[in-house]
Amino acid sequence: MKRICVFAGSSAGNDPAFTERTKELGKVFADNQIELVYGGAKSGLMGVMADAILEKGGRVTGIMPSHLFQKEIAHPDVTEMIEVETMHERKAKMSELADGYIALPGGFGTFEELFETVSWAQIGLHEKPLALFNIAGYYTPLMDMIDHAIQAGFVAENNRQLILESYDPEELVKMMKL
Ligand code: AMP
Repeated sequence: MKRICVFAGSSAGNDPAFTERTKELGKVFADNQIELVYGGAKSGLMGVMADAILEKGGRVTGIMPSHLFQKEIAHPDVTEMIEVETMHERKAKMSELADGYIALPGGFGTFEELFETVSWAQIGLHEKPLALFNIAGYYTPLMDMIDHAIQAGFVAENNRQLILESYDPEELVKMMKL
């Protein structure tokens, strides 16, 4: 079974499209026997994604540091919960397990994870694909910022391709080239 690591908000955002499209992506994972690897929380889009897959009988692995591991935060129904000591250990474990990464809409935690993943790719630490699920144009300003950084000479033009992007769940999964 192939695994995709998903970064996603611990909030659901204020546009119902975020939840609806996340559920569609969850269905595509389950239909294609793709295991979800994620932060292990039940809140926000993280929980929506996990629930959508579990409802369809798919596999979900949560990776959560002990200090976040409280009953009200951890998803009680994941297939497997791996408890680690630190946030760093968690990211290392997520990377070890994943064949690719998808970032759903989210906040600082999601940004940090996606930028670490792309910055590690640009120095050759991994060659796994990373794609943004651009629901309701959420990530368009971020792509614009990246173009701005290219124009200003801070990001190499050929590194733009390290961040893939789509609003179509099927296409996103195809981009992972599993
Ligand atoms: P944010 O986008 O700021 O809501 O943070 C979400 C991202 O950070 C997720 O992809 C998680 O990996 C991580 N994260 C933030 N808060 C939690 C939490 N309470 N439990 C598990 N992971 C979290």
